Amino acid sequence: MGPRPMTERIVSLYSAEDIAARVRELGAEITRDYAGRNLVIVCVLKGSFVFAADLARAIDLPLRVDFLGVRSYGEGTESSGVVQITQDLSRPIEHEDVLLVEDIVDTGLTIAHLMDLLRTRSPASVKVCALLHKPARARVHVHVDYLGFTIEDHFVIGYGLDFAERYRNLPYIGVVERT
Ligand code: 5GP
Repeated sequence: MGPRPMTERIVSLYSAEDIAARVRELGAEITRDYAGRNLVIVCVLKGSFVFAADLARAIDLPLRVDFLGVRSYGEGTESSGVVQITQDLSRPIEHEDVLLVEDIVDTGLTIAHLMDLLRTRSPASVKVCALLHKPARARVHVHVDYLGFTIEDHFVIGYGLDFAERYRNLPYIGVVERT
């Protein structure tokens, strides 16, 4: 007999209902805070596409949606802090109120880099909305203005988040356990 093949088991952390309830709350908060402003939602690809789609529909304001493609070079599941822009915004953001929408803030390096980049383009403001935050792994301090959930140091998947490009379509957030 050869070695037993390694299998992956997914344990749910936040159900689709848990996420939907929190996204509604974040949307209501953002709606209050940005009333009368020029809001641009910037979805950081790829991981944020599901969250941004739900969040945008939970915000009851006129807004614009744009996309920023980033790739973080690193070993496996570790962020290196070297952020490559794979797709830039389609329009200038000068004088607009930018809300960067991130799936997860882990080391903070990606979001810190993106904040610096966007601020060079003279927006009226730049804030961050992240679904998840892993403060245990922070390497730089980033202030998350709107936060879904604070989590322990787990590698999470689903609701847009991948593991080697799989699991983005899971409707809930889970943790992969190797057995
Ligand atoms: P940071 O630069 O804050 O370390 O990492 C940000 C990016 O790393 C996230 O946008 C996400 O793409 C990826 N990332 C960090 N932690 C996780 C995780 O637990 N699961 C998944 N799927 N991606 C993660």
